[in-house]
Amino acid sequence: MNFPRKNLTTLRLLVQSGFLCFSLYCGYRFYQFYQWALGKSPTLVARPAAVEGFLPIGGLVSLKRFLLSGVYDPIHPAGLTIFIAALLLAVLFRKGFCGWICPVGFCSQLVERLARRLKLLWRAPVWLDYQLFSVKYLLLAFFTWAIVWQMDRESIEAFVNAPYNLGVDARMLLFFLAPSAATLKILGFLVIASFFLRNFWCRYLCPYGALLGLLAWFGPLRINRDPQSCINCKKCEKVCPGAIRITEEGSITSPECLGCLECVATCPVDNCLAVTCFDRRKLPALLLPLGVLGLFLSLWALAGLTGHWQTQVETEAFKSYYQQAANLVHPG
Ligand code: SF4
Ligand code: SF4
Ligand code: SF4
Repeated sequence: MNFPRKNLTTLRLLVQSGFLCFSLYCGYRFYQFYQWALGKSPTLVARPAAVEGFLPIGGLVSLKRFLLSGVYDPIHPAGLTIFIAALLLAVLFRKGFCGWICPVGFCSQLVERLARRLKLLWRAPVWLDYQLFSVKYLLLAFFTWAIVWQMDRESIEAFVNAPYNLGVDARMLLFFLAPSAATLKILGFLVIASFFLRNFWCRYLCPYGALLGLLAWFGPLRINRDPQSCINCKKCEKVCPGAIRITEEGSITSPECLGCLECVATCPVDNCLAVTCFDRRKLPALLLPLGVLGLFLSLWALAGLTGHWQTQVETEAFKSYYQQAANLVHPG
């Protein structure tokens, strides 16, 4: 595979743009479906199942249910499929879901690029970095405790069959269509913070990314730096969305490594940075994005072919849940 490594950045931009456009398209189709459900539009548009990918907490509940009882969530099957795909990607291809697919991460990285051009980015000292990191791990610990530890089969069944769960995607849409003053303030804070601290949401707050990072830590793929040929130009660190101190490492195993390959594409020295399997065997860098896309799209296709993508809830049934979405109360 003789793919020029400088083109990895362009390839990533294309892949991420593709997933962002697809997500926006799904969001628009879902809005049309929602309008139909409210009786505001006569045109019934198919509900895009991919919107369930934005419900990772429901994905964790569904995964536990699947492991306990073998029942593959019939309400949000696409959400469970995307959640499983993200976990498998993390185990095999670092945080490939974050680095190549997640549209939220892509938007965060676009802000980061702009901030870099405007020379606004600030590198937090290590002590502050660690304190801020703790927030996403605390959130992850909380969700793990509340779902993996606390929820038994009975409470899981009560949760997945509750009206709240059936209308939760409409609630998510309302979050964006009619944001409260508090929501706007929080979103504004996150955007402004992202101009000064690299990937603020992803690096410090997202519990989903924290889980993927921990899984990636055990994975076989790493970025290795050859200290002999490294000229210490630090170009790799300037472009690293994980703000990893690459020049202080020989092998990058950090849970913050997205497997984005920006460092490999930017390094001016051939073979100084390389993708390896357990620090030993060097692999073609292109293998990582090919693996991420191949596995993700294969699971998507498999779920579609085996009936694990589209919800089994009757289209008409969504009407009543969506009409009361704003007033649905979280069970328990
Ligand atoms: S950290 Fe969260 S928001 Fe960011 S790219 Fe990963 S999953 Fe998406
Ligand atoms: S170390 Fe390289 S592959 Fe990992 S996040 Fe940083 S730039 Fe991306
Ligand atoms: S870009 Fe390459 S040569 Fe420069 S510091 Fe990073 S690893 Fe070393």
